Amino acid sequence: MKVIETIAEMKKVRRELQGDFGFVPTMGYLHDGHLDLARRAKAENPIVVASIFVNPTQFGPKEDLAGYPRDIPHDLKMLESVKTDFVFIPSAAEMYPPSYNTWVIVEKVTERLEGATRPGHFKGVATVVAKLFNIVQPTRSYFGQKDAQQVVVIKKMVADLNMNLEVVVCPTVREEDGLAMSSRNTYLKPDERKAAAVLYQSLKLAERLYTEGERNAETIRRKMRELIQKQPLANIDYISIADNETLEELNIVKPPALVSLVVKIGKPRLLDNIVLT
Ligand code: AMP
Repeated sequence: MKVIETIAEMKKVRRELQGDFGFVPTMGYLHDGHLDLARRAKAENPIVVASIFVNPTQFGPKEDLAGYPRDIPHDLKMLESVKTDFVFIPSAAEMYPPSYNTWVIVEKVTERLEGATRPGHFKGVATVVAKLFNIVQPTRSYFGQKDAQQVVVIKKMVADLNMNLEVVVCPTVREEDGLAMSSRNTYLKPDERKAAAVLYQSLKLAERLYTEGERNAETIRRKMRELIQKQPLANIDYISIADNETLEELNIVKPPALVSLVVKIGKPRLLDNIVLT
């Protein structure tokens, strides 16, 4: 496994190697969810590139960019264990020199859910992913369903800008109690960690109601809200049942519908979703 720190070297490697590249963009502090993407990439491509870049432009002014967890030696060991070929770790100065002035803005689907709470977030995400795609030129790029809106935004950008790659979406990897794995889970204190299981419980409740025939989206949202409110450490940010492509809120549940929620448990904002099909 080779570590690459400059854009020039990453482009040189791409120029010199023939064949399909699988690409796994990450912000590091890797867990089994990230590794699943790398494993799938390795199964489907002869060469796999992962990137580790805590992208400053997707953090708002009040969000803790400096405090985002980092552990590059541990990340490298994990990526090596699944036979990743190259790890691209550019600096912020390399990605955004002082003269930097170009942004990718995906309209509409970025205005709801996370986009409404975190203005500018998806402008940063779309821009950095477009830059990484141009540098790595992957055949396939792997993303987690865990960040459902991110998947919608990236797919839209790839389609609208006619980018020449396939977006592969991988299922959310969960802890035993159903909590979606996330680098941010490390911020949870032990009692908060236990309480965090309520997110997945509420999603399973939505799925059960839907399977039993409930189609009124507000009834499902209300029952999810009532379940979460029984957990004293949980503070609901939003609960949404939306069209899985436009992200428009639904009155009547029509598959595929994205049930997503953000709940604060202590400090961390925990995000999760399922798709009703
Ligand atoms: P991040 O490092 O948080 O930016 O995540 C990098 C990639 O890993 C994104 O495509 C995420 O959606 C994906 N990812 C993060 N957590 C999980 C998980 N629990 N299961 C599957 N994919 C995940």
